[in-house]
Amino acid sequence: MRRNLVVGNWKMHGNISSNQMLLEQLIESLKDCKNADYVVCVPNPYLHQTRSLLQKTNIAWGGQNVNQFEEGAFTGAVSPHMLTDLGCSYVLLGHSERRVLFHETNLSAAARFDAAIKAGLTPILCVGETLAEHDAGLTEVIVASQMDAVMATLSDEGFARAMQLNMVFAYEPVWAVGTGKTATPEQAQEVHQFIRQRIARRNTEAASKVRIIYGGSVKAQNATQLFNMPDVDGGLVGGASLNAEEFSAICRIANSHTSSNCLS
Ligand code: PEP
Repeated sequence: MRRNLVVGNWKMHGNISSNQMLLEQLIESLKDCKNADYVVCVPNPYLHQTRSLLQKTNIAWGGQNVNQFEEGAFTGAVSPHMLTDLGCSYVLLGHSERRVLFHETNLSAAARFDAAIKAGLTPILCVGETLAEHDAGLTEVIVASQMDAVMATLSDEGFARAMQLNMVFAYEPVWAVGTGKTATPEQAQEVHQFIRQRIARRNTEAASKVRIIYGGSVKAQNATQLFNMPDVDGGLVGGASLNAEEFSAICRIANSHTSSNCLS
């Protein structure tokens, strides 16, 4: 059985005092929610604060990106071991904002993925099509190319390692990220099923175990219907993760969701 997973992506938001309030409220409201997993991906400067507040809680934390190199003259970059040093267990990779605004490619996502799993970080690989690609009927082509770029570089050993670390896929249609538009549960299910089938081409057991979460304007008000879909194993939440009440409501829906895809 797959446990639901809800990941908050704070993007470039927060400050020491607002983070403290947000995290303290989340700790309190999620402390009894044992049936799903919860993660916050915070800006790097706040990882230390996040670790101090979240250690010994049921909320994990992670980075929003990572560099593929161990160390060196890469001004502004953060290595996988820097994230693990700060207690991160997860890292987002290939987020659409990184692809669109910072021109990151499928190839660089693959290199980062490889570096992340070598360091023991659970990668959350974001895939998804733009509006123009969606309208042109290219969703599956784009999602497949983004997945294949990473999967093709993984040796069998690397694939097994990624599975041991419970690698996660996040389907995030770019037209739904930060726009207030959400894919319908049926649209999300169709793509999630496609992603799972694509993983099955490599390994059927892995495909049944891997968690595929949906991202794109997830809110408490649409989470139930999305999480009800058989191949949707939770959510990647941007804007709504900055509001403790809204984010914990989404996490609680994931926690209480009782269909066969999320029993603890
Ligand atoms: C995201 O940042 O990955 C995201 C899905 O953002 P939002 O929930 O705001 O659409």
